[in-house]
Amino acid sequence: MDNQPNLSKPQNEVNGGLKILTEFSKPYAPSILCQLNGGCMGCCGHSFENEKSIKYAIHKNTLEFNNKIPKTKQEFEEFRDRELSQNLRNGVCRNLIQINNQEVQTNNKPSCQFLCPLHPTRHKSKEDLRLGHCDIHYLCKSAKIFKDWDKKTQEEFLNYIKTKQLSNIQYSLKMDDNSILEEFQHLQNNHSKD
Ligand code: SF4
Repeated sequence: MDNQPNLSKPQNEVNGGLKILTEFSKPYAPSILCQLNGGCMGCCGHSFENEKSIKYAIHKNTLEFNNKIPKTKQEFEEFRDRELSQNLRNGVCRNLIQINNQEVQTNNKPSCQFLCPLHPTRHKSKEDLRLGHCDIHYLCKSAKIFKDWDKKTQEEFLNYIKTKQLSNIQYSLKMDDNSILEEFQHLQNNHSKD
């Protein structure tokens, strides 16, 4: 998935809504982990329920998007602003949609190809319409830790993710709750004891 709107979990939960970004000048350095398994949507919401309710939320978002078919910057902003940023749908950002409402195969499992229509590559104005709506600089714990690993450990983790054969929603949930990171670290600790 292209760079998804990132909703910072701790701030969201404290404020009951999304963290509104005030510092726009930081360089944005997304992680390769955000692009795996057909795209991670772990940042596009919080307090997720389950795979089914996430799929439903994205489906409804996509229907709403397709009803409007925004073309101009103003129309994209109108789509974005149809609800307050903190008004999530089943924990999912209301801007997260799937391409053409179609399912694609991810690791031999049906998955949706997700995208954020507010991303600058997704509309003609090329402006980042996510700014002020969500925290595009947010990195989950797994992505932060991954960034500081040596190349060998990074490759081992990427291979480990591949072996799990997850759909993109399953992968996103595991990135969101750090469980795939914890499983990997547990395995590594066991190996180092052998
Ligand atoms: S949860 Fe982590 S891996 Fe997933 S999009 Fe967010 S920063 Fe990237």
